[in-house]
Amino acid sequence: MRLIFLGAPGTGKGTQGKILAQAKGWPHISTGDILRAAVAQKTALGLQAQSYMDSGQLVPDSLMNDLVGERLTQADCANGFILDGFPRTINQAEALDDFLKRHHQSIDKVVAFEVESEILIRRLTSRRLCRKCGKDYNLISNPPPADGKCSVCGGEIYQRDDDNEATVRNRLEVYHAQTAPLMNYYREQRKLVSINANQDIAAVQASILEGLASE
Ligand code: AMP
Repeated sequence: MRLIFLGAPGTGKGTQGKILAQAKGWPHISTGDILRAAVAQKTALGLQAQSYMDSGQLVPDSLMNDLVGERLTQADCANGFILDGFPRTINQAEALDDFLKRHHQSIDKVVAFEVESEILIRRLTSRRLCRKCGKDYNLISNPPPADGKCSVCGGEIYQRDDDNEATVRNRLEVYHAQTAPLMNYYREQRKLVSINANQDIAAVQASILEGLASE
């Protein structure tokens, strides 16, 4: 299946994407993760993207469309993929549709993750991650070990630069202005499956599987 996980920052797209990818053997393609790796390695892409990311703005469409087009032509995407964090604008969605059409493919379903903004602000500002394996923690619901080392791989636990409250509020505004219109775009294509993402991880995963099985 070719899937898109659509939702505001902090709705759990990454956590759920990793679980489903492992269960199904599809790659989980997070454009945020790809960009953060590029920033850390100081590649040309990373240098161009960094200032947008630090302020919570979107990286320009042309850069993103090229990046994702390149990723989707890799062999591991042949039988399906989960896109997390892309598309984020109507321009990106149209570019993705055109790209897939040229390759005689199309998106099967778009899972819309629904959570209220005030809950997201709390979730994002208390989010912590492992720098090595990417495991998610949360200071309130799933605190990292007291020694500051990841329980899975021993990596360093850190807070993303853009998870401070001012940047989080900006990212949510950007989401409502530029990304939320994609809900209608995919609803009109009859591909949208909305799920309540304000449940525990297992319940959200079950809702996703149920949504994917529906016609
Ligand atoms: P995320 O990890 O998905 O929250 O993405 C972190 C940041 O990377 C965003 O705030 C944007 O600056 C940038 N980014 C990720 N995906 C995209 C995209 N599809 N279009 C534009 N910018 C993106």
